[in-house]
Amino acid sequence: MIIPESSGRFGAFGGRYVPETLIPALDELERAFDEAMADAAFVKTYTDLLRDYVGRPSPLSDAPRFSERVGVPVYLKREDLNHTGAHKINNAIGQALLAMRMGKRRIIAETGAGQHGVATATACARFGLECIVYMGEIDMERQELNVFRMRLMGATVIPVRAGTRTLKDATSEAIRDWVTNVDTTHYIIGSVVGPAPYPRMVRDLQSVIGREAREQMLDRVGKLPSAVVACVGGGSNAMGIFHAFVNDPAVRLIGVEAAGEGLMTDRHSASLSRGRPGVLHGALSYLLQDVNGQVHPAHSISAGLDYPGVGPEHSFLHDTKRAEYVAVTDAEALEAFSVLSRLEGVIPALETSHAIAWLLGTVGTWASDATVLLCVSGRGDKDVAQVRAMQSQSN
Ligand SMILES: *Cc1c(COP(=O)(O)O)cnc(C)c1O
Repeated sequence: MIIPESSGRFGAFGGRYVPETLIPALDELERAFDEAMADAAFVKTYTDLLRDYVGRPSPLSDAPRFSERVGVPVYLKREDLNHTGAHKINNAIGQALLAMRMGKRRIIAETGAGQHGVATATACARFGLECIVYMGEIDMERQELNVFRMRLMGATVIPVRAGTRTLKDATSEAIRDWVTNVDTTHYIIGSVVGPAPYPRMVRDLQSVIGREAREQMLDRVGKLPSAVVACVGGGSNAMGIFHAFVNDPAVRLIGVEAAGEGLMTDRHSASLSRGRPGVLHGALSYLLQDVNGQVHPAHSISAGLDYPGVGPEHSFLHDTKRAEYVAVTDAEALEAFSVLSRLEGVIPALETSHAIAWLLGTVGTWASDATVLLCVSGRGDKDVAQVRAMQSQSN
């Protein structure tokens, strides 16, 4: 039976649309997380790992040549310099520690692009936890290097052959496993999605990005940024950097979705720009769906943004207009990938390239004293082979 909860909501969004058998596990998780975050010893273990294993704090880089191009000083929050090359490790390490605190040494996860699977496998290797990753068979073919990475670190990657053989079916399989093994198993969700308390928990674990960046901006520039810009897939790097600025009304928060082949086509991932509220993965949020309410498959050049939903807190920030959500196309993101590489010697992830592309379109719109903070959610090493193949096709 599916029962919506009254707690764990952002306005109308979020909640717990899950099988009844999971409610006690979600309650336990929520309690364990709140207790852990109030326990100085746990927080110290976590922050020590973020420093000594992940490499935090991540630097704030100025970007003189890119700034000149955009016409506003842009500062780069360098999550690409974290161990494993993106922000996802902040969350994976935190949830793995929490699992051990709850006495659970079996970890499951689902992954589409493989990046969350790699971050989870990394954390499990570090702590000697059993790691099972569900992945659609088609995604396994598309992301074979990430499958190899996960297996190299000792994870078991289970191919999902049901349905579309992609992320949606891998998620169903992970939920089925969790229902069956909930006493021994923790399910690490990789973005600010899923039933409560996941969206809040993942946000809080990623909020280190914004806390550091806020301090670094005040230190370096002497004032808060005029705008904070981040790409939005599920929305965890964006919530991670937005959270520290939500109560600063003068700071614009801008989330950039993937417009894929264009918002007028049905080949995009712009859940907030073009979706409607609906239930996916246990929560109510904006969602790409057809007229019958069936989930419409997403498309993006970047595997990490290729998701038909978005975290419920973003839906809330969207409806209350605290944050602005925009979208850029595959072609614009591809161009931005080259621009930042050429102008700054920073090869960004294709996901991040969407946020960069939006900035490139804002030339001439900034006040003379404006500054921008951009979340570089990850590095582009994982994308260079794909981009090279696409460029040689078009030549
Ligand atoms: C997974 C990923 C994203 C998208 O996920 P969010 O939860 O929206 O942050 C963005 N950038 C990179 C580098 C990623 O790996």
